[in-house]
Amino acid sequence: MNKFLYFIIFFTIIISIFFIPVVSSTNSEMLKSFKDFEESQIIFLGNTNYAWPIPGYTRLSSPFGKRKAPTTGASTFHKGIDIPAPEGTKLIATCDGNITFTGFLGGGGYTITLTSLDGVKISYCHVSPNYIVNVGDTINQGQVIGHVGPKYVYNVSGNIYSDPSNGKPTNGATTGCHLHLGFRISNNYVNPLDYLQ
Ligand SMILES: [Zn+2]
Repeated sequence: MNKFLYFIIFFTIIISIFFIPVVSSTNSEMLKSFKDFEESQIIFLGNTNYAWPIPGYTRLSSPFGKRKAPTTGASTFHKGIDIPAPEGTKLIATCDGNITFTGFLGGGGYTITLTSLDGVKISYCHVSPNYIVNVGDTINQGQVIGHVGPKYVYNVSGNIYSDPSNGKPTNGATTGCHLHLGFRISNNYVNPLDYLQ
């Protein structure tokens, strides 16, 4: 009986020596990687190193989120922010990245997409079709990448948008010259104001 008791005690000590440090180090490793993950998420989501895309113009005509569609075909969930500015106003790169799209994109009209180095897709919509960047261009933050486009555009095949007051074809779903700026992270639209300086 005593032998059995000694065995139990010995066994418990062995278990304690060999397994507890392993278990606790595994826990702290898990805790560390979880913390790293959490911190990287916080750093990423809290990134405010994006420059304002349209210097001199800060008033929003339409914020991000639910809204009444301002014109036929415009979204009732606004996937970006609208900043009114005259045709020809300079648009600058909010961050370093690459141009991944230029072209006419339905309701967005003439669009430029800048993709940041960490994969955030930043779309500039209703821009001028006289592009000064090309797909594949490497872009530095602050670089002029385009201009606010005209309200009306002509001879765009497949453009279903027009001004109901005069029937003229518009630069996507728009009621006047403005920049629509969209931020997409992993294909989800987020509020650009959470990221812009
Ligand atoms: Zn918009």
